Amino acid sequence: MSNSDVRKVIIIGSGPAGYTAAVYNARAMLKPLMFAGAQPGGQLTLTTDVENYPGFAKGIMGPELMEDMRLQAERFGTEVVWDAVTKVDFSRRPFSVFVGEKEHKAHAVIIASGASAKLLGLESEKKLLGYGVSTCAVCDGAFFRDKDLVVVGGGDTAMEDSNFLTKFARKVEIVHRRKELRASKIMQERAFKNPKISFIWNSTIDEIYDPAKKTVTGVTLRSLKTGEQMEKPVDGVFIAIGHQPNTEIFRGQIDMDEVGYLKTKHRTMTNVEGVFAAGDVVDHYYRQAITAAGMGCMAAIDAERWLEEHE
Ligand code: NAP
Repeated sequence: MSNSDVRKVIIIGSGPAGYTAAVYNARAMLKPLMFAGAQPGGQLTLTTDVENYPGFAKGIMGPELMEDMRLQAERFGTEVVWDAVTKVDFSRRPFSVFVGEKEHKAHAVIIASGASAKLLGLESEKKLLGYGVSTCAVCDGAFFRDKDLVVVGGGDTAMEDSNFLTKFARKVEIVHRRKELRASKIMQERAFKNPKISFIWNSTIDEIYDPAKKTVTGVTLRSLKTGEQMEKPVDGVFIAIGHQPNTEIFRGQIDMDEVGYLKTKHRTMTNVEGVFAAGDVVDHYYRQAITAAGMGCMAAIDAERWLEEHE
């Protein structure tokens, strides 16, 4: 690999953080190389209407917003590759980023690989994703008018999703594995007060039916106290048990917290000088497209200035 093959910046991930970083770095003539990852466009591509991204008075569809971000990044010279990074080596500079056996080198790397919704791990859940099982109430709630739903989880997301789903559903039952909620008091109160919401405590879902029919017809619940199982007919299952940052390939190289969210040390720079991180891969608190985009901008400026200093 010759010196000219070494890129100034490689961006890993193509959500709002990645594309914003790409727009900034491309406009700074750094010709970034972006690996779009396993879910090109990120979590917004699993969403319908986005009403809280500033600049779109009438709202915009998630996939459309991400497509526009891609075009904007490419317009200034970003090279987008539709591959997922499989390995990195940040132990020496220039850094190495691998897709399978193919190695790419760069002086700086921006990690914007985001987070993915966690699943229960049932085979039936996987088969019925998009067919009555959902991880995104905002995206799919409107498909469940006058239906009976269960939401799994006891955090803020589960409460918020349940409240949101009652706009459409006939009733929503929250299945939680403990008797205490993790959600903030205000979110708990809202859920407790909502007449369409009820709770099934100390319980989990053992099975979701019916993959053969390609639609959700019911679940098997199991009490974690008594082990007793119960069949419950439902029309939809919303999984709201948190997110997992997409950071496995950085383990052992980039500092992360106990869940796997990357830690930044100096602004957006990680423990490895020249490697920056932005968006949901760092942030489990705000998790908004606009905050991710803002951090992408910060990482791009940090990377650009760092490159200038080290040239
Ligand atoms: P979270 O706070 O981590 O809660 C996840 C919930 O899912 C917990 O109740 C957990 O149970 C349960 N859970 C985890 N794994 C499970 C499994 N395998 N089977 C069954 N249940 C499982 O995640 P989150 O609700 O997505 O919230 C993430 C962050 O975003 C939080 O900081 C939250 O405050 C924030 N957030 C804020 C708002 C808002 O303020 N409007 C809205 C959404 C999210 P245990 O409680 O037993 O661990």
